[in-house]
Amino acid sequence: MLKASGIYKSYGNLPILKGVDFEVSKGEIVSIVGASGAGKSTLLHILGTLDNADKGNLILNNTDISILSGRQLSAFRNQNIGFVFQFHHLLPEFTALENICIPGFMAGKSEKAIKAKAIELLELFGLKDRASHKPAELSGGEQQRISVARALINNPSIILADEPSGNLDSINANALHALFLKLRDQFNQTFVIVTHNDELATISDRVVTMKDGLII
Ligand code: ADP
Ligand code: ADP
Repeated sequence: MLKASGIYKSYGNLPILKGVDFEVSKGEIVSIVGASGAGKSTLLHILGTLDNADKGNLILNNTDISILSGRQLSAFRNQNIGFVFQFHHLLPEFTALENICIPGFMAGKSEKAIKAKAIELLELFGLKDRASHKPAELSGGEQQRISVARALINNPSIILADEPSGNLDSINANALHALFLKLRDQFNQTFVIVTHNDELATISDRVVTMKDGLII
């Protein structure tokens, strides 16, 4: 599903990634762990096509992303990759339902189809009664589950998450992790997750450790 080979990245003269090879199969939950500064977020951003490698290859869903123009790449990213961050970045003036729909509107899909999918996700996540709430009216755990629904609205082949439970108490963190497992088990959803959470690493199918810009 995803294959990155020989990824190098420097900021100025400072090498951050020093030849990373990384593969993920469909339906796998892979956690990336390692000390702060090891290069985990940098790698995740490159896997998500949010940042360019200086050198190396990224193939996602049988597409070599280096052949895509800037515009094609944005469309490809929006269709194929869902992002979940430590801080949910929900838009405060929109309801939960509207927030979930936004990437669907950006992909140019029909409003009816997007809303139906968003409601389906709210039901699946047990949040249907929160549809018309604004983010400030939701608990931290609910906000993060809404951001996962938003990440799924375009049926992405992969979800990339950077410290998704980093800002949650253990009850909400466990609920989020259970949701990831449910998405994998019911829909064969694929995840790559940067985390410091031991529970999340433990339930992952595979854990890779980064150190000083390399997977060790
Ligand atoms: P991790 O996620 O493992 O903590 P990061 O990938 O965030 O590591 O960062 C790796 C190193 O790259 C750090 O030393 C960080 O300061 C540096 N870095 C990250 N982004 C930038 C940037 N945009 N410009 C300069 N240095 C950066
Ligand atoms: P949790 O412990 O799960 O984070 P909270 O104790 O923060 O939950 O919230 C409990 C419930 O109260 C949540 O379901 C949420 O929808 C509701 N709630 C929390 N804050 C507000 C608010 N400011 N306005 C309206 N409802 C809220």
